[in-house]
Amino acid sequence: MRRVYLDNNATTPLLPEVLEAMRPYFSEHFGNASSIHHHGQETRAAVESARESVAKLLGCKPVEVVFTSGGTESDNLAIAGLVAAGDHVITSSVEHHAVLHACKHLEKIGCEVTYLPVNGCGLVDPDDVRRAMRPNTRLISIMAANNETGVLQPVEEIGKIAAEADACFHTDAVQAAAKVPVDVRRIGCDLLSISGHKIHAPQGVGALCVRKGIHLQPLFYGGRHERSRRAGTENVPGIVGLGKAAELAAEALDRGDQSRMAALRDRLEQGILDQVDDAGVNGEGAPRVPNTTNIYFDHIDGEALEIALDLKGLAVSTGAACSSGAIEPSHVLIAMGLPADRARASIRFSLGKQTTGEDIDFGLALVPQTVARLRELSPAYKKVHA
Ligand code: PLP
Repeated sequence: MRRVYLDNNATTPLLPEVLEAMRPYFSEHFGNASSIHHHGQETRAAVESARESVAKLLGCKPVEVVFTSGGTESDNLAIAGLVAAGDHVITSSVEHHAVLHACKHLEKIGCEVTYLPVNGCGLVDPDDVRRAMRPNTRLISIMAANNETGVLQPVEEIGKIAAEADACFHTDAVQAAAKVPVDVRRIGCDLLSISGHKIHAPQGVGALCVRKGIHLQPLFYGGRHERSRRAGTENVPGIVGLGKAAELAAEALDRGDQSRMAALRDRLEQGILDQVDDAGVNGEGAPRVPNTTNIYFDHIDGEALEIALDLKGLAVSTGAACSSGAIEPSHVLIAMGLPADRARASIRFSLGKQTTGEDIDFGLALVPQTVARLRELSPAYKKVHA
């Protein structure tokens, strides 16, 4: 059966070049990067070369790159590493749970957190950030691109507000890196998170960019790895993979490959909207990363559609989360003001470097017919279209 994968915001396949770059570090180059002998020097050199590639992709200095186990750890290190009891933090209601739940924990240890709303397109208003600032605001954490809708936040404007107020600015760029140019200096952030598996590197590796001069309390205690910012023997194959993926991403951005991706995404989006009534794009009108579209199909259950498409070979996703046995609609779509039914009827399609025009044709042939079939079984749809 043909299988098409349009869930690249969940994870991306490893690129063959990335796998090739990693391969020797599972076998002949096995040294501990902290060892001073030949074997250690070999892996140390590979780690430092990867650090340079990541720094180049993000526009920071190599010493500012801290390798972590992924986006979740990077977000937690940025937030818990910086903030202490009595501090005030500003974030948004559409952040990934890696940020939101870290902030919920801060509240338990005596911090105050402001969760800013977003407008109907999913955008944070920089004036809301300005208004929320307090004398004890230590950190602003606003994501660069949303994982569910792909909406890009006005991070450069927020960076200026943070700098004026002398507060730190962290941005979760897990879904922005490699899709749009990301430059820490241009954004004006002090901390920036990325994750390997969202940019065709392996799962379980990521990085946090920490601006020189910013001191973080480590999450782990142990050796002096990563300049005492992240204890633990480095995941050398993972780091090498992240470095290679960063290098390939920088080349692709220079070539302008995002416009090919945007054209494929737009064809999928428009093709679906042309064929399906009572459907629309969540986040339409806001700037978005080129690989993501989130579409609501009123009067159906998104999970049922996800499963029906999977049975036919198309992998997509709903932003729904299962909490204590109940399916909760996406907190992102609810924050954007969607009624719960519409949020539950929404599906995210996310493309990757490997996505082809034929994959889009496959999606275009399958989605409208599957939605129509589910709607035939939907009393709500029949009632509206009687
Ligand atoms: N932040 C965002 C915006 C994400 O989309 C994700 C993963 O979905 C994460 C953080 C967590 O990254 P990881 O899976 O590497 O822990």
